[in-house]
Amino acid sequence: MMDDQALLRYSRHIMLPEVDIAGQERLRGAHALIIGAGGLGSPASLYLAASGVGRITIADADVVELSNLQRQIAHQQADIGANKACSAKASMQALNSECQVAAIEDYVDGERLAQLVAAADVVLDCTDRFSSRYAINAATQKANVPLVSGAAIRFSGQLAVFDPRNPACPCYACLYPANESDDDALSCAESGVMAPLVGLIGCFQAVEAFKLLSGVGTAHHGLSTFDGLSGQWRHFQVLRDPACPVCAR
Ligand SMILES: [Zn+2]
Repeated sequence: MMDDQALLRYSRHIMLPEVDIAGQERLRGAHALIIGAGGLGSPASLYLAASGVGRITIADADVVELSNLQRQIAHQQADIGANKACSAKASMQALNSECQVAAIEDYVDGERLAQLVAAADVVLDCTDRFSSRYAINAATQKANVPLVSGAAIRFSGQLAVFDPRNPACPCYACLYPANESDDDALSCAESGVMAPLVGLIGCFQAVEAFKLLSGVGTAHHGLSTFDGLSGQWRHFQVLRDPACPVCAR
């Protein structure tokens, strides 16, 4: 049961009849896996920790650099040179010491990724590499764990939720069937990205994770893209590919 401090801390959730104490308790009992502690993972991790998600595992092999601070708001100037997962963990725990955070200072794939995904209630893909995106998608499909996928570059961003528990829901490989290589992909390192645009998409990922973990609302359908230059959202239907090598069963 929540004590008085918790009831006060989360009162603005509990006032929402859709959330109430039961939804807040579900958040406290939930475990989110966030892969990537950069521009998307920063706001997603901070908002989920602040929201009262009980356990968060965050993985990132990189160290904080000066050029990251323009958008990766979980890190401070004093964190330059520190591992990003550790830095994000410190920020989350400064915000909410009740949140149990595990930092993984590694690039995760293979069996390690499979184990981490299977132990989570939701996975947030906050990476910027196609190889990681395909591996995370495959692991979430195999473990039957919902995936909240975000991406941002220059002035545009996109969001999709892939929930293997829903038989009608596509997976990331249904949406992007060609195995795009990392060499073809422009990363933020080469192409630039607008800071609050990345934050917007990371927050959108936190919104969808919050709903999945608390049982509030309905999951996002299809693909949403946002063009920061015009301020326009676009929504696309994405159908499950019956011949998808990842999710066809
Ligand atoms: Zn698929």
